[in-house]
Amino acid sequence: MATGLVHDERFFWVELGAYLPLGPLTQPFPAMDSPDGKRRILNLLRASGIFDQLTSLTPRMATEDELARIHTRDYIARVKELSEGYGGPVGDYTAICAGAYDICRLAAGGCITAFDAVLDGTVSNAFALVRPCGHHAEADRGRGFAVFSNVAVAVADARARRGLSRIAVIDWDVHHGNGTQWSFYEDPSVLTISIHQDRLYPLESGALEETGKGAGEGYNINIPLPAGSGHGAYVRTIERVVLPALRAFKPELIAVASGFDANVLDPLAHMLCHSGTFREMTRLVKQAAEDLCGGRLVVCLEGGYAPVYIPYCAAPVIETLAGLQTQIDDPMHDWVSNMGGQELLPHQEAVIERAAALAARVPSPRA
Ligand SMILES: [Zn+2]
Repeated sequence: MATGLVHDERFFWVELGAYLPLGPLTQPFPAMDSPDGKRRILNLLRASGIFDQLTSLTPRMATEDELARIHTRDYIARVKELSEGYGGPVGDYTAICAGAYDICRLAAGGCITAFDAVLDGTVSNAFALVRPCGHHAEADRGRGFAVFSNVAVAVADARARRGLSRIAVIDWDVHHGNGTQWSFYEDPSVLTISIHQDRLYPLESGALEETGKGAGEGYNINIPLPAGSGHGAYVRTIERVVLPALRAFKPELIAVASGFDANVLDPLAHMLCHSGTFREMTRLVKQAAEDLCGGRLVVCLEGGYAPVYIPYCAAPVIETLAGLQTQIDDPMHDWVSNMGGQELLPHQEAVIERAAALAARVPSPRA
């Protein structure tokens, strides 16, 4: 069985507004979330030939009822109204263009499409190349270039319509997965794990102390890595925190909120990851999915703002999912993987060990 790839040209037709807050002495600057950056991922997949070895999945739009499992009806109506006019702001760092509503519904629905294909067994696993990103969007507002919380909407759908009772979400976007965290903060059926740069965005969430609430206590783990963390810290985090938490939780499906902005060339973050880091993290999580839940793994695209490099970080994820080796050769690999600081450093390990203690407390399902 092949790996599924959700893609649609319309994902690159939505504009999310300027990055810099505008003021009298601010020369206008192009949006950091450029459509072309993510289109380049698809271009590389096509140019390399791997695209033809994947199963293309056509996304559908999430319905208003599906969005409303995560978002308020008022917020959904506001996005729709702005979209039908000239667009406008829907939250901090997030302004939509005219016509964005349907494309944002397509991004959330594209994740549902990927979940369905994996759950139906028509593909062995899947990559959802959706845009805009989703993991910052909260119940009643967009945030950080995210309008609807794509992965959360798909998780809620898999819970409600497909009857799944345990889903794990691993978020390795460099920013905190606040939207996903708050969506399931009191829900023991969804284990949320976010690996991110400490206090990057949003500033007020992502701490180790946020472990869930009520029935959801113990089912949220944050690993706020210090700025400057690289390959060693990320791989150790997967081994020491993510894998033990998954083994305890015993998910029926694993979703990855995969930003590529922890890469060393990203202009909005300060980490050192490279193509080999994303390849190794995917290998480890794929192995866990095979051991724990029949290989059911869906990787959904989140952020990534270095157009020159994100294709070379995304390709190894897709190669690893598909078990294929292509001719794609990361042209930056020898340079970036040999930079100082790629190895695990003691102050990074201290954070990872605190998170490992949380992972050791994840409750196992009752027999
Ligand atoms: Zn991000």
